[in-house]
Amino acid sequence: MDLLNTLVDKGLRRELPTRDEALAVLATSDDDLLDVVTAAGKVRRQWFGRRVKLNYLVNLKSGLCPEDCSYCSQRLGSTAGILKYTWLKPHEAAAAATAGVAGGAKRVCLVASGRGPTDRDVDRVSRTIEAIKEENEGIEVCACLGLLSAGQADRLREAGADAYNHNLNTSEATYEGITTTHTYADRVDTVQQAQAAGLSACSGLIAGMGETDADLVDVVFALRELDPDSVPVNFLIPFEGTPLAEEWNLTPQRALRILAMVRFVCPDVEVRLAGGREVHLRSLQPLALHLVNSIFLGDYLTSEGQAGQADLDMIADAGFEVEGAGTVTLPQHRADVAQTGGGCGSHEAGGGCGSHSEDAGCGSHADGGGCGPCGSAAQSTPEPVAEPAGAPAQEPVPAGAAHTGLVAVRRRGAGTDLPPNA
Ligand code: SF4
Repeated sequence: MDLLNTLVDKGLRRELPTRDEALAVLATSDDDLLDVVTAAGKVRRQWFGRRVKLNYLVNLKSGLCPEDCSYCSQRLGSTAGILKYTWLKPHEAAAAATAGVAGGAKRVCLVASGRGPTDRDVDRVSRTIEAIKEENEGIEVCACLGLLSAGQADRLREAGADAYNHNLNTSEATYEGITTTHTYADRVDTVQQAQAAGLSACSGLIAGMGETDADLVDVVFALRELDPDSVPVNFLIPFEGTPLAEEWNLTPQRALRILAMVRFVCPDVEVRLAGGREVHLRSLQPLALHLVNSIFLGDYLTSEGQAGQADLDMIADAGFEVEGAGTVTLPQHRADVAQTGGGCGSHEAGGGCGSHSEDAGCGSHADGGGCGPCGSAAQSTPEPVAEPAGAPAQEPVPAGAAHTGLVAVRRRGAGTDLPPNA
């Protein structure tokens, strides 16, 4: 297919596809799906080999958010039966982080619900970062605390944070339909503050909220312009008790096309498969490893993922390898820029995923669906489904239909007495 040959050539040269080419990837047929995966896989292997970076989420503060992000189980008015708790103590967060590192994670993502941190919250998170780094030498720490105020990114950087996550989530045109308590521009601003402070920016999207193909291409092109070092791609987990509970729009095939499109548009950036992979990719998860070079290990913020060991087995069975702590994730041309700018990622001055000049930024909250990896959209009703995520449904369910049995509220790890899934 001429389209795919063109996109591979551009990806290998780090050249931006046209909007029409990105749209054409989303419009390919199921007959062409494996060709699309093969083509995007060539670009993925050029820049990241067969390595898979593992990231581990620690939900520092869960639920009770005053913001109204429609996809989020922690939002104002959510009746999802998620865990609700206030700030973990530094040693509690460090214990959870250490479990993730022992499971193979090289980055720990510290996430807190809320519009944004107070200065006191930043102090608390700074102590948490120090506790984690004391116990886990060489580990990357990413903070995801919402919208930042002036000076807070610098303070997090001084405390040892390597990265900051704040997702754009969806296109600027559709943003108001998803959230009314803050704006798309607020999110862009926080990403840029993080970058200006020398933090590696992590910013991504949530697919499956009812957006059009054009919206998806818009947000991915906007991300390329911001030039984050990592782009988490979440697939909406339609939690009961949230406004998007009925939005079951994705099939495994569509999820793969979206990941391929992101890879072609951001060829040399860490593309991370985030929340919703078990729910929407289901048995096709291993194919996604040909497109992304990074996933979350174990559970999300408010929902459960498949067992951490199942993640490791999937990576090995598909012929990939877990990226070691001593390996630089980003290709040399991006990593070099990162080292001069601080952080563990990089910004490209003139190339890379970004077009983007040296001053740009990226950022947002969310991943997995929520605030950062807020992880995930919300979840079921009061009593959670005991069935583990990833378990087969009792009866065959048509592609694109609701797989509510795969949505499981997190009941272990941070904020509970049960050990974490890592
Ligand atoms: S995504 Fe973040 S800001 Fe939005 S409702 Fe969830 S916790 Fe609050």
